[in-house]
Amino acid sequence: MWQAEVRVDLDAIRDNVALLRAGTTAEVMAVVKGDGYGHGMLPSARAALAGGASWLGVATLDEGLALRRAGFEVPVLAWLHSPGLPLHEGVAADIDLNAGSLELLGELVAAARRAERTARVHLKIDTGLARGGATAAEWPALLEAAAKAQVDGDIEVVGIWSHFVYADEPGHETVDHQLAAFADGLAVAERYGITPRYRHIANSAATLTRPDSHYDLVRPGIAVYGLSPVAGETFGLRPAMTARARVALTKRVPAGQGVSYGHTYVTERETTLALVPLGYADGVPRAASNAGPVQLGGKRRTVAGRVCMDQIVLDVGDDPVAAGDVATLFGPGDDGGPTADDWAGVVGTINYEIVTRFGSTRVPRVYDGEPGGAA
Ligand SMILES: *Cc1c(COP(=O)(O)O)cnc(C)c1O
Repeated sequence: MWQAEVRVDLDAIRDNVALLRAGTTAEVMAVVKGDGYGHGMLPSARAALAGGASWLGVATLDEGLALRRAGFEVPVLAWLHSPGLPLHEGVAADIDLNAGSLELLGELVAAARRAERTARVHLKIDTGLARGGATAAEWPALLEAAAKAQVDGDIEVVGIWSHFVYADEPGHETVDHQLAAFADGLAVAERYGITPRYRHIANSAATLTRPDSHYDLVRPGIAVYGLSPVAGETFGLRPAMTARARVALTKRVPAGQGVSYGHTYVTERETTLALVPLGYADGVPRAASNAGPVQLGGKRRTVAGRVCMDQIVLDVGDDPVAAGDVATLFGPGDDGGPTADDWAGVVGTINYEIVTRFGSTRVPRVYDGEPGGAA
């Protein structure tokens, strides 16, 4: 018997990727960083490949190495490296690595020599996000060094890439500015003889709303998991994660009863309280105290009082809720139940953070659907 669980619908992940794939002539890199946005990196990767992804994208070298250890043979790009990492292990494992600075390029050349094979490199240009990547001013020097390293056989420039600031607001002026800066960066690269097979800049939002940004490869993350990057639009995606728990106990309490730490909720009349065994250690934001929506007994309730480390309380009035009944914090929302978007809305964050938080280890992840099979 289970107490709390995070269910992940792998068929939904597969179908979401198939939908993204159908909307582009580019290849699809499914982004599975952050343990697959909390859904589990390996099962999510398998489902994404079953849906037609041909690349996997991760932030860290360790994530990339974990994919290789699990037997994934498709191209993998890892993009976030501090100095001094064992990048030669990534080169040896045939993981594509990002160079967004001269220093990183130098590390990749050293890693290639140590691994005694050519490093597959994606050069990153900062088109406005001001996060990773070379600025337009730094770009020519990076290209010059990369062209030399390529002639020397230390690296192969497989890609040139960038990342959007604000593609989740379709029509935002930064999208056009960044696309123009990216085109400029590609033109400069051509002058250095660098014309890689893969040019890529589109995240989920741009994949869904800006076909002119797709180039050779798109890098959707959140959409793979069925959540929309654009407020108010679903694009036909299906949320893959459901978080739920079985009521541990119910009790009748009188009017005027303070509930949970600090008594920030007080019952208005005699009522039934239901104790739900999921708390902030499991991913429920504490900021959802007196705000988070939960489906129980066919109705939507609101967390009563503070979210605790392990549990929350619901005030269910006189409804016949009993211990063992299933309380759903969020899911696909078909039955009128809350979604990760609803939770994001009440705590002032984004759906990404809600599902990623629920990747904690205490609550078992249970997988539905069977796409992918072998790695
Ligand atoms: C996380 C990430 C993505 C995916 O972004 P979504 O908004 O989840 O689609 C793509 N590219 C990079 C560089 C990222 O860090």
